[in-house]
Amino acid sequence: MSKTPTTSAGLTRRSFLKTTTVALGAMAAGSMLTSCAAQPEAAVVEGASYAPGQIPSESEQIFRGVCRPNCFGYCHINVHVKDGKVIKTSRADYADPAYSRICQRGLSHVQRMYNNERVKYPLRRVEGTERGAGQWERITWDEAIEQIVSKMQEYQDAYGPGSVAIALGTSLASSMTGSYTRLLQALSMTMILPSYDQASCWAMTRVAGTHDDWHANERTDLVNAKTIVAWGANITDAQVQQWHFVKEAMQGGTKLVVIDPTFTYLASKADKWVPIRPGSDTALLLGAVNEIFARDAINVPYVQQHTVAPFLVRSDTGRFLRYSEVNAEAAAAKAAQEAAAQKAAAAAREELLPQGELVAGMAYQSVLESMAYDDQPVVIQGGVPVEASKATDPDLYATFDASGVPCTTALSLLKESVASFTPAKVAQLTDIPEDTFAELVDVFLDQPVTHYVGYGPQAYANGLQTTHAGMTMCGLIGNLGYPGASYGSYWLTSTATDVTYNVGAGIGTSPMIIDLELPEVLSTGKFNGKDCPIKMLYVFAGNPLNCSPDTNRWLNDILPKLEFVVTADPMMTDTACYSDLVLPVCQWFEVEQITGMGETACFNYNEKAVDPLYESKSDAEIVHLIAQGFGMGDLFPKTSGEVLQQIHSGEAAEAIGATYEQIKANKEVRFAPTNPYIAFEGGTFPTASGRLEFYAEDPQPRGATHLAPTAEDVALEHLPHWFPPIHAWPESESCQKYPLVCMSERPRYRVHSQWHSVPALRELDPEPTVKMNPADAQGRGIESGMYVECFNDLGHAVAKAVLSNAVRPGTVVYPKGWHRTQFKAGSWSELIPGDFDKFAVNSSFMDTVCDVCPWNEGSDK
Ligand code: SF4
Repeated sequence: MSKTPTTSAGLTRRSFLKTTTVALGAMAAGSMLTSCAAQPEAAVVEGASYAPGQIPSESEQIFRGVCRPNCFGYCHINVHVKDGKVIKTSRADYADPAYSRICQRGLSHVQRMYNNERVKYPLRRVEGTERGAGQWERITWDEAIEQIVSKMQEYQDAYGPGSVAIALGTSLASSMTGSYTRLLQALSMTMILPSYDQASCWAMTRVAGTHDDWHANERTDLVNAKTIVAWGANITDAQVQQWHFVKEAMQGGTKLVVIDPTFTYLASKADKWVPIRPGSDTALLLGAVNEIFARDAINVPYVQQHTVAPFLVRSDTGRFLRYSEVNAEAAAAKAAQEAAAQKAAAAAREELLPQGELVAGMAYQSVLESMAYDDQPVVIQGGVPVEASKATDPDLYATFDASGVPCTTALSLLKESVASFTPAKVAQLTDIPEDTFAELVDVFLDQPVTHYVGYGPQAYANGLQTTHAGMTMCGLIGNLGYPGASYGSYWLTSTATDVTYNVGAGIGTSPMIIDLELPEVLSTGKFNGKDCPIKMLYVFAGNPLNCSPDTNRWLNDILPKLEFVVTADPMMTDTACYSDLVLPVCQWFEVEQITGMGETACFNYNEKAVDPLYESKSDAEIVHLIAQGFGMGDLFPKTSGEVLQQIHSGEAAEAIGATYEQIKANKEVRFAPTNPYIAFEGGTFPTASGRLEFYAEDPQPRGATHLAPTAEDVALEHLPHWFPPIHAWPESESCQKYPLVCMSERPRYRVHSQWHSVPALRELDPEPTVKMNPADAQGRGIESGMYVECFNDLGHAVAKAVLSNAVRPGTVVYPKGWHRTQFKAGSWSELIPGDFDKFAVNSSFMDTVCDVCPWNEGSDK
């Protein structure tokens, strides 16, 4: 970065610290655990009393901002502007005061905006220098766009449209992502999706049909739970904006149980902390399911009507038995319906053929689907097969012979599959004593219980199973769909607007590749059996060199195979450092924006508060300029406002009062159907059956993967099942060599790799640290405060040791989000393997092992 010019912040560091750091310091010292709580009397939120638009002094203006990292808080923020510069950020009020929050990060935006690591101008790697050498030349926007467009054209002409890929990150959780997805579609480029924190979403999609959303009850509902069970969720730090909901519930009598390998800050506030072996949550849940059967604690009416428990499953295919397979009349009706559908679909296809194969094919498929015969699963009632929707009291443990094929109910199969998970086996796998396990099951049964699931349990290769097992357990006892009763992580996404913002049917298609598959695709030039020679990567709103596993694989395998790499970002991220061309993008308060997801269930409007700093441009304008190079500028409006107007329009948006104009006028528009939102209310699920499908009839991998599942794999996936983590397990090969399980924690000072260079936060958290148990340190000659090297076969990271009995022996815990340049050597992501489960296709961040030794500079492992 040697040629990146120094910022002129408009504020000196001293003057900033006078205002913001004092406030941050007071928060840190006085009330870290409630730092995000609404506290109108506190000096640290002095802007809270300003009404939006109110001008407190002659020359100061206040704009409404939205803080929008993927902590999912979406806190509303007053952006104080004087003489064209942002001088302060403070808490702004939501209509619902429960969501009027701000944390240290939200208070430190000024230092984030006016930061030395802002990308100020388009930068090109100096020809002849290595990627990552930090040698840049400043170029004009015209030169940058011209080079991007000509490279895209060159590769697409030579290797096909998919040879240019755009990697979408998660740091821009807003409507503006749509500009890029529209560009992807228009030019038929390859889309690279991030692989982090997806196992839980995919499991929820599998069993509850959520399509990655609607996971749990809104957090304002926590007060209705008898007990909150926090699974691998250090809420006080990782989701600080939600801690007050837990605290308020506890003040009203709700108990808090924390299940976590580490004695976290949250555990220190809990009624009970249950230490668990890393990666064994699925075993605990399967044991609980077995115990529910043993105690005869199943909620019979619930499982009969709201789950697939009574559905008969064919022993030959593993699929549900259909009524047309047992009833001649239904079979005839089905055949007639299918013939009619085929005829209508063929006619629709014929009619649309002049518009192209793709449009005609889509129409054909759509007609077939709309006319599909409702061939219902079969249950047994009164000894005879009945269509599931017509049975009022189906047999939960029936068997049936379907023309020689034995069938039995999904519930019977589940019972059989968990029978070996006795309390003794659970104790052996999880390290939870049998009596503690029995107490936990008592807690689970004493409803309503909110299972507040963090991102820890799904960060192992078996993480998908954890959520599958958790939802199964809750479904068996009916602990879903009413106040206080839910399971999972929580956020909501509106369906009232289409943020994919596609150009339209028939204009190109984009292959979607999950980033964990990139090494395979780049080495074979194929994806999903088809040619996919990716030559160019354009990274937007993401930082894969920091946030994806196995940084050395990116540096030594992935990047060298890419001929041209562009990063568009406000900050000089790790990924930008190793790019060929870097584009400066507007920070949040330099551009108009709307968010339509998160914990507040609202569309939130972010006003443009100041002009873009330096030569930054908005994502909308950058995409417009690239599209213009392809002669498609008309399809891509130049300003954010125009894009937002197009995205936030239409009947669905109008129906809930969420058009662009309405959101802009009101600053927020709630889109959840109820308040608080109750997930799966009344026992309805957006699955094909409308029920909780704890038995997954057709389990699919999340995206195409070269590790295509075998028939045996699929057979196992119907029901939640146990397998140990790949690495982080005592019997694993890797653990024999590297005995410490290496776990990350989400700190309150960063969100992934964002805020890493904010001076005020660096004062509170100056450098990378790693926590370990004194017993593990002793044998290795390690003392607190010493620099240590954490290492395994993949790489290393040097950090300052913090010895603590809060850390489970045999593990180390590190706060994530530090950039490579902030380590004395290496980085955390170097240690993380890129191995993954073939159904979850998810980064298994904590399925990592390492060893630790004192660090001597120059003698790195
Ligand atoms: S970082 Fe998250 S919790 Fe903090 S102010 Fe921003 S949105 Fe709110």
